[in-house]
Amino acid sequence: MTIQVHDTLIIGGGPGGLTAAIYLRRFRRETIVIDKGRSRLDLIPVTHNFPGFPDGIKGFQLLDNLRCQLGNYGGEVTEGEVTALRKEGDLFVAEYDGGQLRARTVLLATGIADAGLPIENWREAVAAGAVRLCPVCDGFDVLDKRIAIVSSDTNPVGHALFMRTFSSSVTLFERDEVRLDGEQRRKLEAANVRYVLAPLKGITMSEDMTPILHTADDEAHHFDVVYPMLGEAARSDLAQELGARTGNCMELEVDEHQRTTVPGLYAVGDVVKGLNQISVAAGQAAVAATAIHNALPRQFRASPR
Ligand SMILES: Cc1cc2nc3c(=O)[nH]c(=O)nc-3n(C[C@H](O)[C@H](O)[C@H](O)COP(=O)(O)OP(=O)(O)OC[C@H]3O[C@@H](n4cnc5c(N)ncnc54)[C@H](O)[C@@H]3O)c2cc1C
Repeated sequence: MTIQVHDTLIIGGGPGGLTAAIYLRRFRRETIVIDKGRSRLDLIPVTHNFPGFPDGIKGFQLLDNLRCQLGNYGGEVTEGEVTALRKEGDLFVAEYDGGQLRARTVLLATGIADAGLPIENWREAVAAGAVRLCPVCDGFDVLDKRIAIVSSDTNPVGHALFMRTFSSSVTLFERDEVRLDGEQRRKLEAANVRYVLAPLKGITMSEDMTPILHTADDEAHHFDVVYPMLGEAARSDLAQELGARTGNCMELEVDEHQRTTVPGLYAVGDVVKGLNQISVAAGQAAVAATAIHNALPRQFRASPR
C-alpha cells in the first residue's frame, strides 16, 4: 500500500492558513488544511481595517469567503486537531483526531490563545462591541467613547496612552498582579489618563451590554467599552516540540521567507512574532506559500492534447 505524502500540511484554518492554501492550490500543490475551529476572525463583529471592504466585513463572512475561494481551486478544510508533529527523515508526520498524515513541508498558522477573560458570556460581549481585544484593530471605531483599559503585565500603561488618541475619556485599571510605579503614573497624568488605584476585582455586563468594572473598594465603574489587555500566548507548542526557536509569549521566530528554525517548517499569522492583524497574516501567507512552492521539486506540466 502506498502512503500518500502531501506537499504541504497547513495546521490552522484562519486567514493565515487559508490564504496560504489558496496560493498553494493555485501553484498546483497537493495541500491539506486541518483546523479545529474558532479562528479569531470568527470573533470579529465587523472589521473596518481590512483593505478592499469600504463598509467593513463581518469576521465570519470573511472566513466563509476565504473557504469558498479555496474551494474554487479544489481545496477544503478538514476539521480536526493536530496533536503531535514529528520528523521522520525528510518527511513530517502529524497525528490528528482523524489519523496520521505525512507531508514534505508544514505551515503552522495556529494563531494565539487569548488569556481567559474574567467576564461571564464574554463572547456575547465581544460580539456586541462592549468588550474589545485589539486597540490597533478598532480604536477608530470607539472615538470619544468612555473607555476602560485593564493593565497588562507586558505593557502596563502603553495601551491606555495609545487609546488616549481616540478619546479624552480613558481610564486605566490596575490589577493585584500589575501595580503601577511612579514613572508610569506620571506618564498617565501628563496625558490626562485617569487611573483607578483600588485593584480590579471583576467585570460584569449591564442589561444593555455595557461594561461595569468592580474594584476592591466595592466601587462599580461604568463605561461604554473595555479593553481587558490580559495577554495572550502563541499556539506554537507543535513547533517547539520540533525545536523551533520562540521569543516573547511563545511567538515563533521566522526569517524573511517565514521559515522557522526547523527546516521545512514555516509559520504565519498571530503565531509568529509581529503585529497580529488579518492583513499581516495574509501577507505572510503569500510569502510563505511562494517560498514553499519554490523549495519543493518542480512539477513540469505535460503539454495539452
Ligand atoms: C475581537 C477581535 C477583533 C479583531 N479585529 C481585527 C480587525 O478589525 N482587523 C484585523 O486585522 N485583525 C483583527 N483581529 C485580529 C485577527 O483576528 C487575527 O490577527 C487573525 O485572525 C490571525 O489569523 P491567524 O490565521 O494567524 O490565526 P486565527 O485566525 O486565530 O486562526 C488559527 C486557527 O488555527 C486553529 N488551530 C490552532 N491549533 C490547532 C491545531 N493544533 N490543530 C488544528 N487547528 C488548530 C484554530 O482553531 C484557528 O481556527 C481581531 C481579533 C479579535 C479577537
